[in-house]
Amino acid sequence: MEKETDVLVIGACTAGLYFAGLMAQKGFRVLVCDRSSTADLGCRYDVIHIGEEYFSRFGLPQPGPGDEDYLETFHKSILVSALNNYPKNNSADILVLRRVPLMRRLADWARSCGAETSFETEFVEPLFDGAGKLCGALLRKDGADFQVKARLTADASGIDAAVRVKLPDGYGVENFVTGPRDRFYVVLRYAKLKNPAEDKPKFTKTWPYYKTWIAPQWDADGAILGIGANLSFDYAKRCWERFYAKGFLPENEVRHIEQSSTPYRRPPYSFVADGFVALGDAACVTNPWSGEGVPYAWLLCSIAAEEFAEAMKNGAYPTQTAVWAINTRYQRSQGAEFAQNLAMLSGAVDCSPEENDYEFAHSVVFEDESEKGKHNLVLGLLRGALSGGISIKSLINLVKAAGMGGKILKHYRSFPKEPTDFKVWTAQADVLWSKAGSMADLAERDAD
Ligand SMILES: Cc1cc2nc3c(=O)[nH]c(=O)nc-3n(C[C@H](O)[C@H](O)[C@H](O)COP(=O)(O)OP(=O)(O)OC[C@H]3O[C@@H](n4cnc5c(N)ncnc54)[C@H](O)[C@@H]3O)c2cc1C
Repeated sequence: MEKETDVLVIGACTAGLYFAGLMAQKGFRVLVCDRSSTADLGCRYDVIHIGEEYFSRFGLPQPGPGDEDYLETFHKSILVSALNNYPKNNSADILVLRRVPLMRRLADWARSCGAETSFETEFVEPLFDGAGKLCGALLRKDGADFQVKARLTADASGIDAAVRVKLPDGYGVENFVTGPRDRFYVVLRYAKLKNPAEDKPKFTKTWPYYKTWIAPQWDADGAILGIGANLSFDYAKRCWERFYAKGFLPENEVRHIEQSSTPYRRPPYSFVADGFVALGDAACVTNPWSGEGVPYAWLLCSIAAEEFAEAMKNGAYPTQTAVWAINTRYQRSQGAEFAQNLAMLSGAVDCSPEENDYEFAHSVVFEDESEKGKHNLVLGLLRGALSGGISIKSLINLVKAAGMGGKILKHYRSFPKEPTDFKVWTAQADVLWSKAGSMADLAERDAD
């Protein structure tokens, strides 16, 4: 059996369904497939938080009270210090949603735009034409293999990046595997609170020092207790036990545990190659501070859909050169900001709990929204060192991390407009990243 389409999307979750819907809206034939069944789609974990603003910004139907995917809305989130002090507020309307019915909503939306969905359909391998250009994929359904010929194959298969990792070396997009050092292993405990009247969280409270948080869930008397850590679920659990012993959390009884992982590394330098794009977790576009990925996946999808629609007009095959602007537009904006944060993060948390408490008290690194732009980081650090609030070693770590973050930001802001300048840019980026700190290094040091 053989099928032909314009766009083949592998993976039908937040990234794949959104991109499929956008390309279908633009008049292309789109097939989006997923190895999950319809009923299981999105069941990797249950509760997800997405800023309300993103639904209207990206033209998606917004869940609301009475919908099966909607649980509640909260209006701010806070960060607190390693000693549980000095809350830093961030106001935003955040929707608390259930992933499985949310995926049903997105699949209905993609189909209403004209995309075709195929579930229990697994990607097997990429297909190349006689000139070595990607031209679709071999898929498997009900034990039978079949080819789908497509001008564009989009990898939205999540952290394992099923298609990207099978592209040959030098095809135009890095084919790295996102391994344990490059993942954040997230463990979510769905807990019943002993005193819900007093303790039920009305927003997310995060301890960035420990990468832990407490958040609302569907049970009126419950909460989600979360942690993320590099290396392994076992290491994440050990970190959790250390944190839990501090007694910052309300009394609770854990009812069930979910675990899953999210990318924690720089994205590939190029998201596109001839006839190919990587999207969502397959492209590692997650927020280094929170591990959240959906809004950034939608941003990359919306840029990609605009550029591919133009490049694929009149039956044209989308070459890497024709859609290069996807890289330039994303990497110079959101990509640059996340690259800076990723480079700085390990320096920001490589200190003692008391030093982290000092940083919160004096709004060094961690600021309330009302304080944004009012503090000079270097002056704050110097004052900290002079007063003894921050050690010289931590001062050096932070200044180095801030400096490296600044350099990486500048480099990404000048991401090449044309593929011809890419080789030089990439070599310079490699040098910068080799000097930047890594959360995995800190985790390995701690785990030993
Ligand atoms: C525990 C946890 C909590 C999180 N909470 C949030 C949050 O609150 N807010 C937020 O914005 N982000 C959150 N994130 C991150 C977010 O889940 C991801 O960034 C987002 O789901 C990525 O979407 P995606 O569509 O790229 O990939 P996925 O959601 O992973 O979907 C990939 C799809 O591809 C399919 N697939 C994989 N391989 C194949 C194959 N070979 N053939 C066919 N299909 C295949 C899979 O079945 C899956 O349906 C969280 C992550 C974790 C781990």
